[in-house]
Amino acid sequence: MNQTPAIPVYLDNHATTRVDPRVVEAMLPYFSEYYGNAGSVGHCFGEDASVAVEQARTSIALNLGADPKEIVFTSGATESNNLAIRGVAERKRRRGNHLISVRTEHQSVLQPLARLEKRDFHVTLLEVEPYTSPRAGCLDPQLVADSLTDDTALVSVMLANNEIGVLQPLTEIAEICHRHDVLLHCDATQAVGKVPIDLQQVNPDLMSFTAHKIYGPKGVGALYIRRSVRLEPQIIGGGQQQGRRSGTLNTPGIVGFAKALELCASELPTELVRLANLRNRLWQGLSERLGDLQLCGPTLELPARLPGNLNLALGNVDGEALLLNLKNLAISSGATCASTDPGPSHVLLALGMSEDLARSSLRFGLGRFNTEEDVDFAIQNISEAAILLRKMAP
Ligand code: PMP
Repeated sequence: MNQTPAIPVYLDNHATTRVDPRVVEAMLPYFSEYYGNAGSVGHCFGEDASVAVEQARTSIALNLGADPKEIVFTSGATESNNLAIRGVAERKRRRGNHLISVRTEHQSVLQPLARLEKRDFHVTLLEVEPYTSPRAGCLDPQLVADSLTDDTALVSVMLANNEIGVLQPLTEIAEICHRHDVLLHCDATQAVGKVPIDLQQVNPDLMSFTAHKIYGPKGVGALYIRRSVRLEPQIIGGGQQQGRRSGTLNTPGIVGFAKALELCASELPTELVRLANLRNRLWQGLSERLGDLQLCGPTLELPARLPGNLNLALGNVDGEALLLNLKNLAISSGATCASTDPGPSHVLLALGMSEDLARSSLRFGLGRFNTEEDVDFAIQNISEAAILLRKMAP
């Protein structure tokens, strides 16, 4: 017997996640009990905060196979991406002014690159497999190899895409970059905590991630910076974190970030399977009721996709119009992160989809608090609304 889910149903976990109550509990003492400034040496309030921050740094580093000194806390992945790209470009200027990335990256990578391009840098954006391919959205590592020049200072490739969930072959790309002595940055915002990551194995030089995608608080993120990498700080002032990122540390946020990652790491093996099953149930249910749907991104059979991700195009139904009819369901018709841009998703266009097809797409992000009842609720409500809109279509 199907149970009724708690309404409204949240299936937009790529945009952000609910903070896990265990994370909230870990954070609470750091608001009003241990409220010192982690930079205040010389009294126990500062000392308590500093110990908590360093414990969190160590825990995050251990979970990812890094050294604690290689973790710099930021305000989120947008800042981490800016620090990595602009920081390396400005520092490496003497080596070369060529930067390589991919068309399907997040705007917090594309915009810093665009700005650098206005300042004499040369940017190459690589193409990915088209939407008709079973490996839609995948980057062929050979394209990276072919684009490298003596002037290349940095390559930036995301690990998991925030719209179509495609996982890029980072280990192979890192090998290519290192063979040519070029730094590799990876935006792993959607991958950390969702798929196993061992930095010793994946091997980028810089990696961005954030707490609010892994059931932690908003406004805190980190950049992994390999020990040998030097970059130009982007936020300067008090000299915190060895001058790499100034500003008073967000102690409760950092404590919550570490707790969130610990929980993801311990639940990962079972959660991977549970989310993939829920996602497949959603795809099957919608396909059965709505017929020919266009899957956006790699096929669900390949391990090249985040387990909780589904993105599909309905063809002749406008995604935004559909969402207006689904008041009790939180999904996205593109990247919520880019909702200031009303145009069709740049990721779907990069896959070669037409503007109309891209506009008919829906993005689902299934997460820790979702159940089979949530999925069945989504299947029923979306198919009813889509059938109605299809009937009304000219
Ligand atoms: N990169 C990717 C792939 C993302 O999905 C996001 C968030 N939508 C960001 C970067 C930016 O992260 P934050 O919200 O922590 O700034």
